[in-house]
Amino acid sequence: MAATDEARRLEELLRDSGALKSGHFELSSGRHAAEYVQCALLLEFPERAREAGRLLAERLREHRPEAVVSPALGGMLIGHETAAALGVPFRFTERKAGEMTLRRGFEITAGSRIVVVEDVVTTGGSASEAMTVVERLGGQVVAAGAIIDRSSDGNPFRVPFEALLDLELESWPAGGCPLCEAGGRVEKPGSRSS
Ligand SMILES: [Zn+2]
Repeated sequence: MAATDEARRLEELLRDSGALKSGHFELSSGRHAAEYVQCALLLEFPERAREAGRLLAERLREHRPEAVVSPALGGMLIGHETAAALGVPFRFTERKAGEMTLRRGFEITAGSRIVVVEDVVTTGGSASEAMTVVERLGGQVVAAGAIIDRSSDGNPFRVPFEALLDLELESWPAGGCPLCEAGGRVEKPGSRSS
């Protein structure tokens, strides 16, 4: 599947699952936006999660990964589905007293080729910390993958980065929102009353 078909298919999956909404939203930052994405809703239905994992696996396969590692919590479902599609093991890192660690008996074979998978990459912070954990244990991080790339200044990683959808959502400060100026009512996503 060509990258553009893939992005189109992913956008369809996001809209079908209600993960990507158009309207007028107040984000947790307080800014207003015309679009909103909640990736967890895409992964709510296992068959959609599985399809997203298959799509991401196709993008990552050329890096010949021997395992997938994801930072908990966000990357776990898509990381697992991607590993399943690649036919390789899945491991996750988690924070212990604020520090990213590999626990629960998971191991990284020295020299093994690892891809780090996230759901949404904005600054790439958690994924970068997971990469550091892998490298400290002797693994070789060969690529990063994500469902959605929301980073605005190119690839935030030192390795190739494959994302299924590049999503730059425009937002405005509440006082300078064109949708408010047009008289529209703002919705707070995630709140049951909206
Ligand atoms: Zn507004």
